[in-house]
Amino acid sequence: FEKEMARLGRLDLIGEMAAGIAHEIRNPMTTVRGFLQMMSTRPEFQENREFFDLMISELDRANSIITEFLSLSKDQVLQLKKDNLNTLLETLFPLFQADAFNRKNDVRLELEQIPDLVFDQREVRQMILNLVRNGFEAMPHGGTLTLRTINKKREVILEIQDQGKGIEPFILEKLGDPFFTTKENGTGLGLSVCYRIAEKHNGRISVKTSSLGTTFSIHFPLTL
Ligand code: ADP
Ligand code: MG
Repeated sequence: FEKEMARLGRLDLIGEMAAGIAHEIRNPMTTVRGFLQMMSTRPEFQENREFFDLMISELDRANSIITEFLSLSKDQVLQLKKDNLNTLLETLFPLFQADAFNRKNDVRLELEQIPDLVFDQREVRQMILNLVRNGFEAMPHGGTLTLRTINKKREVILEIQDQGKGIEPFILEKLGDPFFTTKENGTGLGLSVCYRIAEKHNGRISVKTSSLGTTFSIHFPLTL
């Protein structure tokens, strides 16, 4: 519990900072990206084309760090609407299939009949996308990602299950800490964002992991 409180305190601070500076950093970056893009088409730079591509993709990476950082900001007010989580998952499914295909993974939906929930579409979508991406990234040698909705008396559970090699205990402890990543190109912000979004919906995220894979479960309470 204490660790949980420390984590939340840290996120508050980050949220405030993010709201302040992210915007200011993004504008000049957009300008630089635009000029790089333009210059990269000039004949005299064709010899070094790959440097431009690298600069642009690094700028995009910085930009995605800012985007995730911003969604940690507390100032964003939830746009709550009554909706069905299954519908959202069905809408996103083609996106997951395309992603799975590109990575030589599989993806399945196992949907139970569930009651409508009150939630912020954009935020919950972001949370699902982050967990799905982690799931795919955990299976570099192929495997099936399963998204499952479960109808419990007091809650709806969304499970995202991968067949990766699991999470070691010392890493498990650090899950959700901002900037904690084991990936070369990771931001370490995806799970922080997920925990934050779950918390804003009075929900929680639990993790089960073994050498056969990892399951992240998002618990949505039925009474918000
Ligand atoms: P990132 O994906 O950018 O590294 P995240 O916050 O999404 O940041 O995840 C933090 C870390 O948690 C990852 O680097 C990885 O070590 C671990 N992790 C998250 N999801 C999984 C998963 N499904 N299987 C194994 N490890 C995971
Ligand atoms: Mg991630």
